[in-house]
Amino acid sequence: MTDQPNVGRVGIDDVVIRFPSKQAETTALDRTSLTLEPGTFTALIGPSGCGKSTLMNAIAGFVAPSEGRLSLDGAPITGPSNDVGVIFQQYALFPWFTALGNVRFGLKQMGLPKAEEIGRARAALEEVGLSAHADKFPQQLSGGMKQRVAIARTFVVGPKVLLMDEPFGALDAQTRVSMHSLLMGVWQKHRATVLFVTHDVDEALLLADDVRVMSQAPGRMIRHYALTQQRPRAFSRSGPELLEIREEILGLLRPEDDLIAT
Ligand code: ADP
Repeated sequence: MTDQPNVGRVGIDDVVIRFPSKQAETTALDRTSLTLEPGTFTALIGPSGCGKSTLMNAIAGFVAPSEGRLSLDGAPITGPSNDVGVIFQQYALFPWFTALGNVRFGLKQMGLPKAEEIGRARAALEEVGLSAHADKFPQQLSGGMKQRVAIARTFVVGPKVLLMDEPFGALDAQTRVSMHSLLMGVWQKHRATVLFVTHDVDEALLLADDVRVMSQAPGRMIRHYALTQQRPRAFSRSGPELLEIREEILGLLRPEDDLIAT
């Protein structure tokens, strides 16, 4: 593992995001402030429609906040950039490119000599265990393999921040487990700052340094758990604390509960 990096600090200061409509404005994200420290892994969990994707889209530079400030290493986020990689649940691979072609596509704008571009793309595919499948097209790959290509394509350009919006939500339970260990390995090597949206409390607790829980819409942060348990984690061996936090979060996510901000 490399030392803790000093780039990739995401500042979210008093951000509010509203979407205008003919009838009434929707507040997609209520006033939110938090900092994602360089190289940390934060899981964001909350009910559907509470604004998780909206916050991600704002950090990615796709949506401008209505109020407040978003910054990366102190510089305002004004639009998409290679410093911030995004991985969605749907694989978003180009069907007409092979796995290698998809990873090379991410590198295109760097203007590397062709041999170096191919070399880097092959190395990235090797890192995610797909060397033998480099020449396959997305439709020839399983869901887990497609998501590995997406991970390789994103990390190959060296993003400071990686935003993942339910990246493993469409995968079966067994594939998810192998994707978790793959992601941990790649993340610990590259040390990007990760913000990971999930509906799955267990996934959040097994992967993240920080778990942030959001309220019902319009969403705001209601709880923060800092997790220090060693990785790889498992509920069976990581002590009772993880299970206690799990129960607490499941309680918070029950819609009938009266949520109280802390
Ligand atoms: P989550 O990811 O937590 O499920 P979203 O961020 O997708 O929630 O959505 C939060 C709220 O903002 C929802 O009410 C949604 O309908 C609304 N919303 C999201 N994007 C837009 C948009 N582009 N235009 C109008 N409303 C939007």
